[in-house]
Amino acid sequence: MRRLLPLFLFLLLPAQALAGERLDDVLRDQRAHGFPSVAAAIDRLRRVDDVPGPGAPLERRWRYQSSLLKLALGSRQTGQVKASMAALERMANREACTGCRFDLLLAQVNQAVFTTTPAAGQVVLDQAAALQPQLHDQGRAREALLATQSRIDELDNKFNQAIELSLQAYALAAGRNDEAEQIRLLARMVGMNADMGDPRRGAELGEEAYARADAAGYRALMGTISLDLGHAYSLLDDRPRQRAALERALAFSENDPDQLEIKILSLNNLSDYYLSQPGQNQRVLDYARRADELARTSGEEIERAAPLANIGIALGRQGDLAGGMDTLHQAIDISERHGNVTNVIGITFELVKVLEKAGRYREALAQLHKADALQANLTSQQREKTVLDLQEKYAAERKSQQIAQLSAQNRVKQAELAAQAWRNRLWIALATMLALGSVVLLQSIRRARQANRRLDEQSRIDSLTGAFNRRHTQRLLERMQHAPRRRAYDADPAAGTGLLILDLDFFKCINDTRGHAAGDAVLVAVVQRLRGLLRQGDAIARWGGEEFVLVLPHTPASALPTIARNVLHAIGHAPVTFHGQSVPVTASLGAISYPAMPGQDWEAALGLADLALYQAKAGGRNRAFCVMHMAADATSERLARDLAQARDAGDVELAVVLGPAHEAPAMPHGVAPVAESA
Ligand code: GH3
Ligand code: MG
Ligand code: MG
Repeated sequence: MRRLLPLFLFLLLPAQALAGERLDDVLRDQRAHGFPSVAAAIDRLRRVDDVPGPGAPLERRWRYQSSLLKLALGSRQTGQVKASMAALERMANREACTGCRFDLLLAQVNQAVFTTTPAAGQVVLDQAAALQPQLHDQGRAREALLATQSRIDELDNKFNQAIELSLQAYALAAGRNDEAEQIRLLARMVGMNADMGDPRRGAELGEEAYARADAAGYRALMGTISLDLGHAYSLLDDRPRQRAALERALAFSENDPDQLEIKILSLNNLSDYYLSQPGQNQRVLDYARRADELARTSGEEIERAAPLANIGIALGRQGDLAGGMDTLHQAIDISERHGNVTNVIGITFELVKVLEKAGRYREALAQLHKADALQANLTSQQREKTVLDLQEKYAAERKSQQIAQLSAQNRVKQAELAAQAWRNRLWIALATMLALGSVVLLQSIRRARQANRRLDEQSRIDSLTGAFNRRHTQRLLERMQHAPRRRAYDADPAAGTGLLILDLDFFKCINDTRGHAAGDAVLVAVVQRLRGLLRQGDAIARWGGEEFVLVLPHTPASALPTIARNVLHAIGHAPVTFHGQSVPVTASLGAISYPAMPGQDWEAALGLADLALYQAKAGGRNRAFCVMHMAADATSERLARDLAQARDAGDVELAVVLGPAHEAPAMPHGVAPVAESA
């Protein structure tokens, strides 16, 4: 007995310490350490000694409700969410509490993106952003806006943008030593990196988030982190780590009712994992049935689709074909009801396999056609949307690399799906060979080849104008630079490669006055007009929004003024007609033949051409500046500072060419127009 007493006292200690806590201390502690579970964190806040009552200062009541709301939002504590939102709304209305309104709107964004669409969330977020200037703590407001915008972009599949914003929010959270928020942001970037094609980075971030959550004691987040780590490791094909992470995710979520969704996903992903292991059908069934049961009782019907699909596949593999088909049909029905086309396609392919196994080829073929049609539709929509979104938003080089990455990812997915469809087709073709003959096979092969060619083109070609895209052209220039010179080049060492960069004049004005569609039509027409000038081996690239680059092999500097004149005339000789309107269009242009000095690379040369283009804009537009000669000792820094000054200093010789319908304008000092048209 005597030995038990101190232990008994020790057990009482934490409870007594908790009872005497103050709000500020709890909030500080939750920033530094997170919390073991959402329920525990909320409970702890409700039990502080100084819960701000109705008479407490507004600022304290606001902070208290906001903290409760933030905790409750990501969980199943809907009662607390409602209560805190109502309290914030009252303070916003009756006491003109702008901060309360701001936090309320951010919570509504969260609800909108999950219950309706990212676009709906965006509308509410814009309202919150409009309040920012009135807020006392600008830094915190900015951080919250960044984190929320990142959430919207993530759900809208704009992963690059979402990651960038999360990183900015992370830097702000680090600045105010909020360890818990930093861990939350790290955790969110795990899945985003994995989904945008960088699972390695995702796994690194996940391990860091996990280690920091573990060190801080932030157990409530460790299930989510482990689940996302499992996803990243599955993409990396690291099966042992995938399984370990998923088992941890299950262990962390097992007894926490707020983490029911994590638990369902962990169970389901474990059943996925065992699907990839031969001879483990029983485990697939065990995990998937647990996931399905939980999803069914929690009323989240859509969550049932994946486990049911796995059950169907496993039953089929075990030889229970009728049971397999039946379950797969259930999974497809659910996915269709919830409009999840990707699921419908994937599960239908599985159904086809079971139908084949059962010898029901006619039904298999019908299902295959259905899935093929859905898939063709879906991928073309998705591809167009993502590529267009990105192209419009990001002209900069880094972004075009990301476009290439996206389409590469897309190609891999396509290839996988095509391979699977192909295997299925082969089966059916064999079974019905006599009836259909070999014509089907040949057609399939041709179709597969055409599909591949289309995909290859999409990664090189700008979808609006049909010109090469920037990324492809950079690779082309890189290759030209490093390839050993062919004989034709050696024979004429004086002929360099012409690089022309041109930018349409006052293009924004065309968009503004005649609409974006008219602007698009002009871009298409300009490329068509330029194509008429190109020789075999020349290339035209869309470099940015309304900026184009021409790459002309075997083109000495002496040829540039004539070419420039032809280009300006081709573009500007007549207005573009769009829906009966005529839209005048001109361009400004910078040109160089590179290497213009020994050792110059294409990037430096294009940089100079761009400076020349700038001169052409500054000099009045609808004209070209051609770099005719460079002094041997001209340094790029001197040139980059100011091309006009460099010309006056004798570093560079420029020629000016005027575009069509141009009054002879006053030329900048020292520059003689080489060609001029009426
Ligand atoms: P400047 O003569 O100085 O070049 O004037 P500008 O108006 O052409 O220059 P600015 O770079 O400001 O405008 C380019 C505009 O091109 C802005 C952007 O909205 C538009 N744009 C970029 N890509 C596309 C596109 O694909 N289609 C359309 N219609 N417009 C685009
Ligand atoms: Mg421009
Ligand atoms: Mg322009």
